[in-house]
Amino acid sequence: MTIPVSCDIRHKRNIGIMAHIDGGKTTVTERILYYTGKGYKMGEVDQGTATMDWMAEEQERGITISAAATTCYWNDFQINIIDTPGHVDFTAEVERSLRVLDGVIAVFCGVGGVEAQSETVWHQADKYHIPRICFVNKLDRVGSDFFRVVGEIKQRLGAVPLPVQIPFGAEEHHRGYVDLVRSVVRVFDADSLGATFEEFPVPDDLLGDVRRWREHLIETLAEHVDPVMEKYVHDHHLSEDDIRSGLRQGTLANRLTPVFCGAALKNRGIQGLLDGICDYLPSPLDVPPVVGHHPKTNEEIVRKPSNDEPLTALAFKSAADEHGELTYLRIYAGHMKPGDRLHNPAVGKRETVNRIWRMHANDRERLDLAETGDIVAVVGLKHTTTGHTLCSVHKPIVLEKVEFPQTVIHMAIEPKSSADKERLLDALRRLAREDPTFEWRTDTEAGQIIISGMGELHLEVLKNRMLRDFRVDAKVGRPRVTYRETIRAPVAGVEGRFVRQTGGRGQFAVVVIDIEPHVGEHPVVFESRIRGGAIPREYVHAVEQSIHDAAAGGVVSGYPLINVKVTLTDGQTHEVDSSDLAFAAAASIALHKGVQEAGVRLLEPLMKVETVTPEEYMGVVSADLTTRRADIREITHRGVARVVHCLVPLAEMFGYATKLRSLTQGRASYAMEPHDFVEVPQEVYESLLI
Ligand code: GDP
Repeated sequence: MTIPVSCDIRHKRNIGIMAHIDGGKTTVTERILYYTGKGYKMGEVDQGTATMDWMAEEQERGITISAAATTCYWNDFQINIIDTPGHVDFTAEVERSLRVLDGVIAVFCGVGGVEAQSETVWHQADKYHIPRICFVNKLDRVGSDFFRVVGEIKQRLGAVPLPVQIPFGAEEHHRGYVDLVRSVVRVFDADSLGATFEEFPVPDDLLGDVRRWREHLIETLAEHVDPVMEKYVHDHHLSEDDIRSGLRQGTLANRLTPVFCGAALKNRGIQGLLDGICDYLPSPLDVPPVVGHHPKTNEEIVRKPSNDEPLTALAFKSAADEHGELTYLRIYAGHMKPGDRLHNPAVGKRETVNRIWRMHANDRERLDLAETGDIVAVVGLKHTTTGHTLCSVHKPIVLEKVEFPQTVIHMAIEPKSSADKERLLDALRRLAREDPTFEWRTDTEAGQIIISGMGELHLEVLKNRMLRDFRVDAKVGRPRVTYRETIRAPVAGVEGRFVRQTGGRGQFAVVVIDIEPHVGEHPVVFESRIRGGAIPREYVHAVEQSIHDAAAGGVVSGYPLINVKVTLTDGQTHEVDSSDLAFAAAASIALHKGVQEAGVRLLEPLMKVETVTPEEYMGVVSADLTTRRADIREITHRGVARVVHCLVPLAEMFGYATKLRSLTQGRASYAMEPHDFVEVPQEVYESLLI
């Protein structure tokens, strides 16, 4: 098979595949890579060798959490599959991957149908107006029912599902499908792994059903797509091309969703689905131009999807593999070549692109040029991490505010030996680079390493990667809510002295600070008002560093200090006895003294929670949220479901997934993300002190 070097942008498809866990997403992806593949060997999920799930962690859990991208070709179309994480704990990653893809295949199990989790992902795609096609999978299984699933897509998701195929044979007699657009039957050959198939006219006993579903297809199209309606009224007939073109318009406008069918495991139906991706899902030209802001003036900037525009790219994933550090980019506008100097406005640094790769399932291809609409992995970026924009040096733009929420949950991790400690530190550095929502630090007092993240599962996955991929032997504590402390009132002129005269060279440092409440971009702001020589500049740095370290480790309650501004106003230095160390100690003493004088308030993480539930469970879902100290802000409709928007303290959200499942027979789902920190109620504060 020949691979086009540069593909017409109209023939590019950047897509994601979404499914409920176990719906068959991995199997469908595998089969797509097989049929489009360059000598690619099929890897069954059940044997844990699926190519997209390249991290052992994912293979074990059977969930996909990394957003790797894979390119394949079908006819003269280039299809980039962006791996989309499916779990609610990874909201930031799900949302980012939704930003970089243009269309989605929603895979449903022919037996399980629309399950709670598929509702969540579907509604997330609604939020970003992403065109979708559906694939009803596992139609070989006993108990599967294509038409029931189509009905559920309509009722439970509030969509307009439009079958463009219906199954040929059901359950153990399933063999293929009837293509309603062309009115032919396609059956797959088991010996060739479905690579060869046979087509024949619709047999007599099926003619009635096929006629009915074809009429349904045409009428629904006419109802939702105006040009189809005009043509139909005028000619009383639609050609195959008219139907395809109508389906494309309706899908791109998000007015309807074509539905395909098959059994991925049995290699049935994938080629038709690939045709569907090309026929109905958008190219980068079919989606609205990307909008960003000027990093200095904040003026809005629109970049059209064209190679002639200034380069505009978003880094949506950093990953390290045996070849080094890779940064995955989506290029929204412009083009780039190896050796290009680019600008990263988030960190104010220049970057050089050393190499550009197109990633395939089992190999990679070196590119001389990456163009608008491409998804590529580049090597050589030193400062760019997930969420950063890369742009042309002279035409800066920022696509996404680089604002990651503060971590809300933490646990201690203790390496068993000093060799383990080395490996652990290496692992922590690598993981923190890949994932901007993961943090770690050493608690100097307890001598422990603390890792922090966005949720229970987030930390669990990271922990397992450290223990297994990086082979660290360590003891791991229980996950705990990360509270914060802040001060009640400003204090001024707090003195910290660190003076030791024990013969020989002594220690001498005196600092004077003011501390005041301050809510801003950073948890702790430091300013020096030292003029003249009270404290030389190099010691001011030591003071600043020590204030940040002491604040991060917690001052009074052991939780990080936030929302304060510390101003260094005065101090004293000794020509011989002063040192960085002495100033760091004096600063830490001053901060502890000041915070105690000012009085401490304990803050708890407040989460923004969106629970999506069928109408009939609204009562129990709201009642349960109320017992969790939820502040219900709004209740909205999403398709036929109701969405409860509320703010809930994280401490009350442990075990919510299980409770929600049992309250609603698994039909409700939720997503949550950090929102703010608020003062804990008195009774909770007291219970924390015990
Ligand atoms: P994912 O969790 O959505 O990635 O789903 P997988 O692709 O891992 O599939 C879940 C399970 O369903 C695996 O055991 C697959 O072998 C099985 N499976 C996937 N597709 C089919 C199918 O078409 N028919 C049958 N009978 N099983 C399937």
